[in-house]
Amino acid sequence: MKNPLHNEIDLSAYWMPFTGNRAFKNEPRLMKSAQGLYYTTIDDRQIMDGMSGLWCCNAGHCHPHIVEAIRQAAGELDYSPAFQMGHPGIFRLAERLAAMMPKGMEAVFFTNSGSESVDTALKIALGYHHARGEGQRTRLVGRQRGYHGSGFGGTSVGGIGNNRTAAGPLLPGVLHLPETYNAEHQAFSKGQPSWGAHLANDLERIIASNHASTIAAVIVEPFAGSGGVLVPPVGYLERLREITEAHGVLLIFDEVITAFGRLGWGSAAERLGVVPDIICTAKGLTSGTVPMGAVVVQEKIREAFMKGPPTAIEFFHGYTYSGHPLAAAAAHAALDVYENEGLFQHVLGLESAWEEGLHALADKPHVIDVRNFGLAGAVELRPQNDAPTERAMAVFRETFDRGLLVRTTGDIVALAPPLVITETEIGQMLGILGDVLDDID
Ligand code: PLP
Repeated sequence: MKNPLHNEIDLSAYWMPFTGNRAFKNEPRLMKSAQGLYYTTIDDRQIMDGMSGLWCCNAGHCHPHIVEAIRQAAGELDYSPAFQMGHPGIFRLAERLAAMMPKGMEAVFFTNSGSESVDTALKIALGYHHARGEGQRTRLVGRQRGYHGSGFGGTSVGGIGNNRTAAGPLLPGVLHLPETYNAEHQAFSKGQPSWGAHLANDLERIIASNHASTIAAVIVEPFAGSGGVLVPPVGYLERLREITEAHGVLLIFDEVITAFGRLGWGSAAERLGVVPDIICTAKGLTSGTVPMGAVVVQEKIREAFMKGPPTAIEFFHGYTYSGHPLAAAAAHAALDVYENEGLFQHVLGLESAWEEGLHALADKPHVIDVRNFGLAGAVELRPQNDAPTERAMAVFRETFDRGLLVRTTGDIVALAPPLVITETEIGQMLGILGDVLDDID
């Protein structure tokens, strides 16, 4: 029901992203503040954040250290041009980020979002081959059910049908690997499924039918988040790495949701011991407080661009707000919090409680799969006859009414709480979800 408080706000002008605008405006959900694990709605209800906002507020909300850093930065250096100019904070941040990523990944290009990080990474891959005299390597390989943001590049390599349908022909020469999910072989796996490494071999088929010399890069999420928390089978990413390396194809990990602690490490690459050529980040980099993304690149790739006259621009790409001082301050503060509060180790310590708690939902009505990895998870529901997505949306609405924010994709309910959550709070969160699953039709 529409709360009377909403009548004071005209909701009509704002065209909301990835939202059923008409349904939302009929039944709005508006937040006014947030602290730690909780949002407060405009009618003063406390909502536990089961999604770190949108996979981003890893340090919890309004952390005082991050708030203070942003406050200070805003009054000190509001903006510094990003082209032919810089400020000390952004150079220090690049150094700090490179130190957090796998060895050899030493160059950092700043963006303002995950979508921009993906488009930047794809252009770096194409530029790298061009700079080395292999400009015919123009094909990009994504994966079914992958999500890489809303830019034309990310939409092209992405593999979620609804995101692509009305977007025209997209980038030419994009191919897709099959998805890694298979309910028959993987349902109710704990952590990484043991079945499915062989699905990476499809890349060999793609390479054989298009010739390696035409393929620039493969981009995958280490685990697909927006596609419904699809966890990589044991050995799958390793196999992709082997094949790409053997054929001179770059491997890009889109770590927009997996970097900065979701898997208890700075990156999924480090956790899994699979080192790609390029890593895309955003979201948790500033704990969602100020938009910022970063693309971290193997030194050999940057090196390939560094030629021509010494005054030449080596990569014709960038954004007005690349390396924005406010975002840089927020990122430094978020990284401080992750370090000082030991949040990545905290996640590793929570993993088994998280896994157990989630899988205890397996016997609830309508549940056809439960998946987990790091501090992320999903409960997949049997779709209602003739009304796919409706059952999960009913769960979304009902959990919100009972004080919990989750996210849905199709009939999948996803969870990814802030890394500061405790074991007791995990119990409360999953308790609310369990009760709702008992009660909905
Ligand atoms: N890549 C991945 C893996 C994501 O999950 C997302 C967003 O959820 C993006 C890219 C796009 O990020 P943004 O919404 O910041 O553009």
